[in-house]
Amino acid sequence: MKSETCSACGSSKLIHDMRIVDFGHGNAKNDLSVEIKTTDRVLFNKFEKGALKAQICGSCGKVDLSVNNPHDLWTAYLKTKKL
Ligand SMILES: [Zn+2]
Repeated sequence: MKSETCSACGSSKLIHDMRIVDFGHGNAKNDLSVEIKTTDRVLFNKFEKGALKAQICGSCGKVDLSVNNPHDLWTAYLKTKKL
């Protein structure tokens, strides 16, 4: 969901599509993500993942998060409710 002005202060100084990086072992970069478990096994479960993207206001610092694949996540979420 992209807006052209900050939802908090109304500024148009918005920084779009920033990756949110988590530094893992050996400083390996990983995108911070959400995940939904779509199978209910003891081992080797499948997950639907969505990398978080941030939109940052360059005036007040408000950060809005979004994912690129909301429909995939929604479908996965509906599946989990049937398990
Ligand atoms: Zn702002």
